[in-house]
Amino acid sequence: MLPNKHQEIERKSVSTILVGGKICTPDKVFNPGALVIDNKSITLIQNKSEFKVPKDANVLDTSGCWILPGFIDIHMHGLLGYECMGPDLDQVIKRLPEYGVTSFMATTMTRPKEEINSLISHMASILSDPPVGARCLGIHVEGPHLSPERAGMANPKWFSPLTKNEVDWLQDITNGLIRMLTFAPEEGKALDVIPYLLDNNIVPVIGHSNASYELAKEAIALGLSQATHTFNAMSPLHHRDPGVTGAVLACHSIIAQLICDGHHVHPGAMQVLLNAKGISKVCLISDAAPFAELPSGKYNWAGQDIYIDGKTIRLADGTLAGSYALIDTGFRNLINLLNLNILAASQCTSMVPAQSVGLGTSKGQLLPGYDADIVVLDEQYRPLLTIVEGTIVWNAT
Ligand SMILES: [Zn+2]
Ligand SMILES: [Zn+2]
Repeated sequence: MLPNKHQEIERKSVSTILVGGKICTPDKVFNPGALVIDNKSITLIQNKSEFKVPKDANVLDTSGCWILPGFIDIHMHGLLGYECMGPDLDQVIKRLPEYGVTSFMATTMTRPKEEINSLISHMASILSDPPVGARCLGIHVEGPHLSPERAGMANPKWFSPLTKNEVDWLQDITNGLIRMLTFAPEEGKALDVIPYLLDNNIVPVIGHSNASYELAKEAIALGLSQATHTFNAMSPLHHRDPGVTGAVLACHSIIAQLICDGHHVHPGAMQVLLNAKGISKVCLISDAAPFAELPSGKYNWAGQDIYIDGKTIRLADGTLAGSYALIDTGFRNLINLLNLNILAASQCTSMVPAQSVGLGTSKGQLLPGYDADIVVLDEQYRPLLTIVEGTIVWNAT
């Protein structure tokens, strides 16, 4: 039997053991398998037939289920009416495990500078003592250092080029919690700031950018290592003007974030990306809007009417306004739309995002020694149970 919602696994010397089910490690599926958790870590994975269940263990019967590393969403803005940027971040942390998410980057949006100060300070205060739920790995700043020509939903009147002073200011008001920054390197002297971001342990990400292919390559040579929502809000690939999209496809070193809700990017373009980059360089993100997963209807967001139809979030003119779906939908789409096998899909939703933020040796894979960040899925790949660092934080039953 699975324990009740929010029930904590007993600590001390009692192990928790998932017995039965298909346990997905990077190289193979143990079916049926057994997985042992001691405190916060995975300590053993074996075939069930070789495993002897100790008498005093806390045993969860996961027969018939898929057992995977929890989803890691490094680009998401909120869900269910709660926004990462501000005082509702605690609710985001609590609700994300319902979608199989075990860790994430709390991602900001463009706002006037005075508002950014107050909203990001709220985030830092919540992260100093976070509630039980998904682990927040830090703050991903997306805006206002963007190109007016690739603004997307953001308001260009608040845009400004990235500077070293801006990086210092952001790190000061968050006590150093900025871990990722999406910006347009062609704006002002932003290109020169890339080494400074690296010095500050911040992942430099190109996005909302109208840069040329050549400038994007220059940024990559300086250490830019990731692209925000590839294809969306970036100069497209033309065979005589390959743009940012061409640079992302051509340069092996850069990791490509991909929204896989089935609406932001055509499955054919997703396939092009996977073929060009290989699985190990494609990082699934949700880019979920604060309205993600809310019932269909009309809502108001920062003075704009927003329409939700159960699959997308749109402005009155039909423009997509962030994603409706969380990353678990993207995971299912990789399998159902692109025919990826489950281990390949899991790489894009767990291993690559962990590696992309320097956590590849502790998160993103089911292996002994790794954090016990686990999602249990049913036969249709829908989340049933979510474990974060050894604690059951959500259970569907
Ligand atoms: Zn964006
Ligand atoms: Zn975004």
